[in-house]
Amino acid sequence: SADSSTETERTLAIIKPDGVSGNHTNSVKETILNHGFKITEESLIQLDEDRVKSFYAEHSSRSFFPSLVEYMTSGPVLIMVLEKGNAIADWRALIGPTDPLKAKVTHPHSVRAICGLNLQENCVHGSDSPQSASREISFFFKTTSSGYASKHDEL
Ligand code: ADP
Ligand code: MG
Repeated sequence: SADSSTETERTLAIIKPDGVSGNHTNSVKETILNHGFKITEESLIQLDEDRVKSFYAEHSSRSFFPSLVEYMTSGPVLIMVLEKGNAIADWRALIGPTDPLKAKVTHPHSVRAICGLNLQENCVHGSDSPQSASREISFFFKTTSSGYASKHDEL
């Protein structure tokens, strides 16, 4: 039977507002494809406050939450579903640590080291577990028995 580490998985990637406005979209997508991921869904959207608050609900009590909501609504984001064996952990490894300034030291080839600006404006998101990936993919891409039904708010 297949080793669980190579089981095909889907994860949610987001190029955040600083990544889109900083023109990192093409290079990040190239990095994604060069690492063997398929991009199976893709949508450029403008998030509103309610949607960000719901997406990041786990952080609602943190002091940085209001600032995070303002940042994530400051411009368009590119949301993508990435697919490959071990996609969830592999995409997290590829983006690197949350803080780009630390990433530049410890993971200099990571996406956040190369494209991130600071702890908040860190260019990209990746689901942190199979549970998060499942929740986050259905948060943005609604499915029905007949397939993908809607990608709301597409720009
Ligand atoms: P990750 O995106 O690496 O999973 P977290 O889930 O801890 O990180 O945080 C979600 C996002 O909130 C981060 O990617 C970053 O944009 C922002 N953030 C996290 N911690 C801080 C902080 N201490 N100050 C400002 N922004 C933060
Ligand atoms: Mg997180």
